[in-house]
Amino acid sequence: MSLKLYGDNSLQNLMLYYIKCKIKNSLKVVMDNGNSNNGRLMAFYIVCLTSYVLGGLYLTQFKLTIQSVPQTVYLIVIVGLFFLYGIIFLFMLFQYLCRKDLTCLMILGMAFLGNNIFFVETIYIVQDLINDHASIEKRTNDIAIFYYFRQVSFIALLFVSLKSYKISSTVIETKEREPCYIVLAFLIMIVISVMAHTLASYNPNFTLEITSLKPDNATVHWHIGYIYSLIVSWGLVLLYLIIKTRTHNILWKSIGLVCCSAILTNVLLLSLDEYSMYIWYISRGIEVISTLCIISILMYNTFIILKKETDSAIKDAMTKIYNRKLFYKSLKSSLAKGAVCVMVLDIDKFKRINDTYGHQEGDRVIISIVDIINKSIRDTDIFARVGGEEFAILLKCNDKDEAIVVAERIRRNVQNGTTIPNSYELKEKMTISIGVYCSKIDDESADKVVSYADAALYEAKNSGRNKVCYYYH
Ligand code: GH3
Ligand code: MG
Ligand code: MG
Repeated sequence: MSLKLYGDNSLQNLMLYYIKCKIKNSLKVVMDNGNSNNGRLMAFYIVCLTSYVLGGLYLTQFKLTIQSVPQTVYLIVIVGLFFLYGIIFLFMLFQYLCRKDLTCLMILGMAFLGNNIFFVETIYIVQDLINDHASIEKRTNDIAIFYYFRQVSFIALLFVSLKSYKISSTVIETKEREPCYIVLAFLIMIVISVMAHTLASYNPNFTLEITSLKPDNATVHWHIGYIYSLIVSWGLVLLYLIIKTRTHNILWKSIGLVCCSAILTNVLLLSLDEYSMYIWYISRGIEVISTLCIISILMYNTFIILKKETDSAIKDAMTKIYNRKLFYKSLKSSLAKGAVCVMVLDIDKFKRINDTYGHQEGDRVIISIVDIINKSIRDTDIFARVGGEEFAILLKCNDKDEAIVVAERIRRNVQNGTTIPNSYELKEKMTISIGVYCSKIDDESADKVVSYADAALYEAKNSGRNKVCYYYH
């Protein structure tokens, strides 16, 4: 949408301007407020999860009994989850490599990686089942063992991750590194997977019995104590997560969602034989949705960080307008294309605000004036803070008269907008002086153009302030 704000303040222009501000503000909420967007993302996944569970449970009413899950379907889901967990691990590993004080994130990544060890074992068994139907009971028990220890491993590593988490973590990397927690997590991961492997049917001397076939020889029966132990452990680790992190961070909120999903999955497992294997589909779906939630939040956060970093390199922290570096860069590239118009602006008698009311009030005055100027120019103009209370504008026009009209309007808007009483609640009426210069094609460097506008500003100051002057030569 291209809107020209220069010229007369006709009703049509005012209306268009109002619409533009509304759109700009709503976009600002979407783009700038990372946290609220993260919240929306989280809410989206919670809604997905709830509707999926409710839909799934509703479908079970139609007695769509499924006695067993086809092995190929089982393999596809497990392989899918394998890759999802692999992606989460890599994300967390890379974040840790960039910021070594994020030990807890690295351990969290290991918790997800740990899942994959058990998935590999499960894939191997299911693959074997496809070729050999003889030992279904034994193999089903093995799959249950790996399912059980997969969760035990995740809970244990999540606990270590929470233990190493410090709520006071700032964005600045500290020198404090805690490799001992990583070593501990690694050992836990290895010990639990070796234990699971040993307790499975690979060991002829002792096999843990988690499931057994029912007398009908078709449905699997879980020994209920194991499921209860998982539900209690997930509940405890969730409680610890809430106490330790106070879920102030979106990542911990999503891990909390994973814990809730796991509790729900295990509760559904309790009713496995009542609802038939249909429940298996619901449980794996829950796992996929909560995993996707974490991946989206990790990816979204990465892009938000990227945006903030880009902004901080080209924008002024206090006023959020462009900085001096970006202004000169834009000016040089515009000059290479042709003629430009430049304005240099300085707040009149600003020092007295600092001296009378203090620096904080001074800052508020600067921010308010920036807001007034921002509303007086177009989005395509480059408005930058080039000094303490000095600004520059690179206008997308090369017509001297048009530039003077714009400068005059900015000057007037600042004067009117700060007249007591004003919406910014400023204690004094403020004015600004503006120097304007439009370059001639092919003749000037960026420094020269700015120095001419500066000379015009000097003249405006010397001739009584609250003025717009143009540099003629
Ligand atoms: P003139 O009309 O000649 O421009 O008078 P002036 O008082 O505005 O004079 P000058 O431009 O030299 O004053 C600049 C003052 O702005 C000095 C400095 O203390 C103050 N200043 C610069 N940056 C900041 C800032 O970020 N915040 C605050 N509060 N004050 C600032
Ligand atoms: Mg000044
Ligand atoms: Mg100054």
